[in-house]
Amino acid sequence: MKRIFIFTLLLSHFVVKAQDIQLTPLYVLDGKVIKDIKWISPSNLDRIEVLKGKEATSKYGDAGKNGVIVMTSKPASSIPARESLDPRVTELWDIKAPVVTPGKNSGDAPSDAIVLFDGKDLSSWSNGSGSNPAWEVKDGIATVVKGSGEIKTKQEFGDIQLHIEWRSPAAAEGDGQNRGNSGIFLQGLYELQVLDSYENITYPNGQAGSIYKQHVPLVNASRKPGEWQVYDVIYSAPRFSEKSGRIISPAYITVLHNGVLVQNHVAIIGGTQYKGMAAYKTHGKGPLTLQDHGTPVSYRNIWVREL
Ligand code: MG
Repeated sequence: MKRIFIFTLLLSHFVVKAQDIQLTPLYVLDGKVIKDIKWISPSNLDRIEVLKGKEATSKYGDAGKNGVIVMTSKPASSIPARESLDPRVTELWDIKAPVVTPGKNSGDAPSDAIVLFDGKDLSSWSNGSGSNPAWEVKDGIATVVKGSGEIKTKQEFGDIQLHIEWRSPAAAEGDGQNRGNSGIFLQGLYELQVLDSYENITYPNGQAGSIYKQHVPLVNASRKPGEWQVYDVIYSAPRFSEKSGRIISPAYITVLHNGVLVQNHVAIIGGTQYKGMAAYKTHGKGPLTLQDHGTPVSYRNIWVREL
């Protein structure tokens, strides 16, 4: 993953100094290089050896330049019989999971959510110049008014869980990017596309559920125009070096579209761009922004949980 990320940075024409990246070592298990180490339990290992510097590169070449963790697994037969173990050793009593009361129905805001739009008004939002939004609010629904511009939350966010419901106009006018287009910009910068993608052809990394001009959704889970659709999003903000401002970890996003996984923890390449490659710019917390793309897309039931 890290190598892919560095490659992505190069694509984005960044100049990155090595000390700004949290370099990961090479992991070797029983003589084989492995990438996923999350499944490895120390209790299944016989020996762990750390190789650094010349010792690492002489054995593993350039791949070992960040150090090498050499692990040897225990033969399965040497793992002690579980009957002799105390079950309390693996019980984590000191870590308490805070209690959250879930919503009554699926999609309802849980007790610790920040409700951004519950159908009453857009008091949690402003327009691009900081004034009250001119979007229409009627019958519990907020709808884009063409030409009135984007709206953004007054509160700014970092890592969040987001629930948002949206609807493209029932009359499917236009085609491609001109049909029921809006967008949800995480931290005001990274667009999760909103588009009427029901039997509507466009470039796949610009259809509903795409990370615009970056990641194609895994599937097209679109409902018909005029029907309500849901995005549930897990978003991790990018991290920047405090010292230099350079990127040290990209943003990650997971998206469920109408309950179907469409983005599975993908790394965002940079701030969304219509032309040219996406690129990162240093930033802190940012608002949630909804796009006016000239079509009367509607929204309801918007809430976030800060993570
Ligand atoms: Mg859009």
